[in-house]
Amino acid sequence: MSSSLDAFITRKHIAYFTMELAVRPEMHTYAGGLGILAGDTARSCADLGLPVVFVTLLSRAGYFKQVIDADGRQTEQPDWWDPERWCTPLNAMVAVDIERKPVWIRPWLYVHTCPHGHQIPILLLDTDLDQNGADDRTLTHNLYGGDEDYRLRQEIILGIGGIRILRALGFDLHTYHLNEGHAALLTLELLNRSRVAPEELIAGESPFDIAEVRASCVFTTHTPVEAGHDRFSYELFERLLPGFVDLDELKRLAGEDRLNMTRLALKLAGYVNGVARRHAETTEHMFPGYRIHAVTNGIHPGTWTHPAFAQLYTTHLPQWQHEPEILVRALQLPDDEIWRCHQSAKGDLIRQVKESAGIALDSEIPILGFARRMTGYKRPLLLFENLDRLIDVASRHPFQVVLAGKAHPQDADGKEAIRQVHALARQLRGRLNCVFLPDYDMQIAMTLVAGADVWLNTPLPPMEASGTSGMKAALNGVLNLSVLDGWWIEACVEGVTGWSIGQDGDGARQHATALYDQLDHTVLPLYSADPARWRWMMKQAIGNIAYYFNSQRMMRRYAAEAYLR
Ligand SMILES: *Cc1c(COP(=O)(O)O)cnc(C)c1O
Repeated sequence: MSSSLDAFITRKHIAYFTMELAVRPEMHTYAGGLGILAGDTARSCADLGLPVVFVTLLSRAGYFKQVIDADGRQTEQPDWWDPERWCTPLNAMVAVDIERKPVWIRPWLYVHTCPHGHQIPILLLDTDLDQNGADDRTLTHNLYGGDEDYRLRQEIILGIGGIRILRALGFDLHTYHLNEGHAALLTLELLNRSRVAPEELIAGESPFDIAEVRASCVFTTHTPVEAGHDRFSYELFERLLPGFVDLDELKRLAGEDRLNMTRLALKLAGYVNGVARRHAETTEHMFPGYRIHAVTNGIHPGTWTHPAFAQLYTTHLPQWQHEPEILVRALQLPDDEIWRCHQSAKGDLIRQVKESAGIALDSEIPILGFARRMTGYKRPLLLFENLDRLIDVASRHPFQVVLAGKAHPQDADGKEAIRQVHALARQLRGRLNCVFLPDYDMQIAMTLVAGADVWLNTPLPPMEASGTSGMKAALNGVLNLSVLDGWWIEACVEGVTGWSIGQDGDGARQHATALYDQLDHTVLPLYSADPARWRWMMKQAIGNIAYYFNSQRMMRRYAAEAYLR
């Protein structure tokens, strides 16, 4: 075994399981917000010296590379990356029987080192091994690829294989954190291991120590969108894992009709968290009878701060990376320095747009940024709801728009939205510059969230569980203009930290009107007429948002409230 792992094994007591994890841009082991959050979680654990080991899939072929044709149509290509370049294969292997034949799993190790030198191990599970048949070798290739059958096999590898790998490597763990329901099968492996000895079994009682499993599991649920909760038929489950658990027992835990991963995790995790206060409330309504905690998401300051701002913070508030609470003192930062840093970040974005889209944006004119997974509830077309009004606003208060985002390969509506955005951009040419940057990823996100002037967010409430890109924007003094949903309900102070769009309970038409009104009467006039107030708001965003919505605070809370129960 790699000696680099030995040092971790003696002190890692918590295992964090996640289907995706954004380690670094060159490793295509993530699709979007869930993986970014897992990555920020890992980086904060390292910063804080928390004893956590991370488990995810190797995803050699990534999620997908987004290619957009001349008509705005998205096609997907494999997004291979090279594990050898960043990770070390460990000399350990375990098997899980799927359809009564062993699937072998080997972990790769990536070690993340924080600026102070603390390190955390990330294990990436791989089935592309000589010992496996051709089909099994592809099981850890495509993140969120394939059909139900492929997905359940992946979740078996992550949950059951992950637990076995940790045992084989010698980790002694007291807590398992399930990042979303994808890893919920680990609870069944723990249940099987908790089995009461036959001579101690009380007639009529469960042979499992459910209380013990609950005491060791923490579950974070991430979405109120129904399709976001994995469900599998029991027929499929029984075919892949015959006899793994008693089916009647499983149905009691995971639902009568289908194996619902969220329900399984809710039943077997002693601590359940929603990702923002509103989301915790929504989840309690969806699943009555469960107490849902609300440790609101955060982002990793060191990762998402533009180098110019990082330098500024280091000069004035030296300990900001370890203790971002100190950004509460942002009002001290000199206005002209704030603006210089912002212009530097904006220049980077303008360069990137020129390079990848061939369009020259104007650094004097405000840029609206919008980058999301392209899907129905995120409403990427809300800005274009009333073109006459949009053109009218832009004619009096010029601005520019940069958009980005992938649609899941099977999300026809999301793909259609991308096509329409391209058609609209063409239609608006000469009156409003709209640019779509293809292949949204961590790198593009870094440039966009720092280089825009205003960060736009138009989800349909209450579907945006938290959202995190707006937190990244605020960290760079970029002002949020957002529907009141997810994290923004907790962060918005109207006209101080940013702006809201509409009221609670409004529909799409009202949201569109409110958006145009805000742009027309408040946001865009302020930008041109009152630069001093704008800079003051930038500092308020840093001081009132970035100081709190960061993953250092998030992980200190998880450590104190969820891991040390
Ligand atoms: C931050 C981030 C997200 C999540 O942002 P949301 O506000 O939740 O949409 C998604 N993808 C990438 C690449 C990101 O960096």
